[in-house]
Amino acid sequence: MPHQETVLVTGGAGFVGSHCVAELVARGYSVVVFDNLQQGHRAAVPAEAELVEGDLASPATLTRLFSAFRFDAILHFASNSLVGESMRNPHLYLHDNVVNALNLVQFAADNGVRRFVLSSTANLFGMPDRMPIDENTEIDPGSPYGESKFMIERILHWADKVHGMHSACLRYFNAAGAHPDGHLGEDHDPETHLIPLVLDVAAGKRPHIEIFGDDYPTHDGTCIRDYIHVSDLADAHIRVLSALDHRSCRYNLGNGRGYTVREVIETARRVTGRDIAVKVGARRPGDPPVLIASSERIRRDLGWDPRFPDLETIIRHAWDWRCRNPGGYESGPVRELVAVG
Ligand code: UDP
Repeated sequence: MPHQETVLVTGGAGFVGSHCVAELVARGYSVVVFDNLQQGHRAAVPAEAELVEGDLASPATLTRLFSAFRFDAILHFASNSLVGESMRNPHLYLHDNVVNALNLVQFAADNGVRRFVLSSTANLFGMPDRMPIDENTEIDPGSPYGESKFMIERILHWADKVHGMHSACLRYFNAAGAHPDGHLGEDHDPETHLIPLVLDVAAGKRPHIEIFGDDYPTHDGTCIRDYIHVSDLADAHIRVLSALDHRSCRYNLGNGRGYTVREVIETARRVTGRDIAVKVGARRPGDPPVLIASSERIRRDLGWDPRFPDLETIIRHAWDWRCRNPGGYESGPVRELVAVG
């Protein structure tokens, strides 16, 4: 880095965002986290980063934010991100996610920011029948959530054409795990993701895990997903930051290996040494049977090579964090906010 670069991280108090913040801080960037703390956690933001509480829906707040700091790049995580909720309330996604991103991109363009990284999703591809899913797979979003991310990808396409703002759209498959040193982890309310729910059962917080359908065309009848360690996602974000000096890009991020729901539960039994009760329920509407990424493009272009590709390590790190933080972030230290303007 020629000078210490300042990076704005929206949603930097959330699961993937906070791991990226930790990585940026470790690599010497100056970091400003912007988060409304509705889903994010104050305690997930390190003392070295500035935390600004606010909402992307408020242009007045964004005006103050962009006058208080000069950003070299933006990582945009802040969004509604529940597929199921988006099927019940599409407006929240097709309006709020998109309008908030439009606001942010406009402020970025007006303030000369030329590098923008979007947290995007495999849900963009809906239910493709050919695996693995690479960047040439047809876009056909599986939900209003996926559609909202695709609309933001298009906004960024035009921000490049019109303003010369280079962007990276990173389509995550199933983000999971926790920081290897155990100080950051996954803490959603409500929790809907498989691995933290299975670990809740192992910890005695839930009576059983419900498998959403065991009649899929897979080897044990349950859905196959490609679980990717959150630290490997963070590493991809840092790598694309430097690539953005030259061009825009889109990358699918996964390990290229799929595990069934039953294999995840079995691995969690091994890792935790606990019994995990299972009930088989109905399919969850909209769940594709198999989602596996091809990440050949980012491997080739940027030398990205996941450090924690195996499921056992992913679950072990998630379990370590859970054991150290049985109440999630709730019991963690409270830190001061930075006032802007
Ligand atoms: N799943 C399940 N029971 C649960 C939660 C999830 O069987 O309580 C399954 C879900 O059907 C999917 C996989 O676990 O096949 C991963 O789901 P998750 O919600 O974690 O991520 P998604 O793949 O929906 O992004």
